[in-house]
Amino acid sequence: MDTPQDTSHAGPRPAALLGPVEIRQLAEELDITPTKKLGQNFVHDPNTVRRIVSAASVGADDDVIEVGPGLGSLTLALLDTVRSVTAVEIDPRLAGRLPQTVADRAPDHADRLTLILQDALTVMPADLRTAGAPEPTALVANLPYNVSVPVLLHLLAEFPSIRRVLVMVQAEVADRLAAAPGSKIYGVPSVKAAFYGDVRRAGAIGTNVFWPAPKIDSGLVRIDRFRAGGEPWPIGAESRAAVFPLVDAAFAQRRKTLRAALSGHYGSGVAAEEALRHAGIEPGLRGEKLGVADFVRLAGVV
Ligand code: SAM
Repeated sequence: MDTPQDTSHAGPRPAALLGPVEIRQLAEELDITPTKKLGQNFVHDPNTVRRIVSAASVGADDDVIEVGPGLGSLTLALLDTVRSVTAVEIDPRLAGRLPQTVADRAPDHADRLTLILQDALTVMPADLRTAGAPEPTALVANLPYNVSVPVLLHLLAEFPSIRRVLVMVQAEVADRLAAAPGSKIYGVPSVKAAFYGDVRRAGAIGTNVFWPAPKIDSGLVRIDRFRAGGEPWPIGAESRAAVFPLVDAAFAQRRKTLRAALSGHYGSGVAAEEALRHAGIEPGLRGEKLGVADFVRLAGVV
């Protein structure tokens, strides 16, 4: 005879993740045609969202900010693992449905979710406080592709509490973010991301895990931010304001030497040369040869 199962001591039920059928059903119910403009490619593969959560190394002590929860694929997987998720979504139709999806599919963790209907490019710590959300310790997101780099840099700049980042972006953007000085794809995003911590590729994702399938592959990027108090240089607003314009100027005209590319910034070629020599940098080099530490030194931050 079967013994009735005593469920009173069973742990919280894991979230029911979204597969292709559920994604189509939700989209149909909402009458949503995913838009390119908002980078709406929804993950319909539970293994992929589990992989993202695992690559983020987040756990029960983490308060995650997620940009663009969409239909909730990644949100549900995060809710199983972390202390809280603050999801920032720009599309009111998607944001409107998310609490219901979470209540249906992750009922034991629904109280861990805070939803903010806003453009992630404008979200500030005060918006999270107003919504009653904790300071985020990590950013985990399948970023909307058209704004992935600006959103990433905005959140790194405005949320110093974020210690870890795991984002899915277009493969070529992932390569660019993690590129080392001297490589062809090394550029402004590589230097600015490296300003905050260690940046590396954390895996490749094919097109078939999305609906609709994008034309190009995706990649995971992980950033481990420098430990508070242990940063190699100050990373606050003041040092950013000194370093980032130099980076922009150095790469604005990639083919020019640093002396020429920075002459506008310093007022003349002579002044640029003097500043470069003072920082121990050869003025005849191109910007792509400089690591972030060189830019920091040139800016006089350290
Ligand atoms: N996280 C979901 C997933 O993995 O299936 C959806 C990811 S989809 C690539 C990007 C999501 O970001 C969409 O839900 C889109 O509406 C949203 N989005 C686009 N631009 C945004 C912005 N500026 N701020 C916040 N969300 C945005």
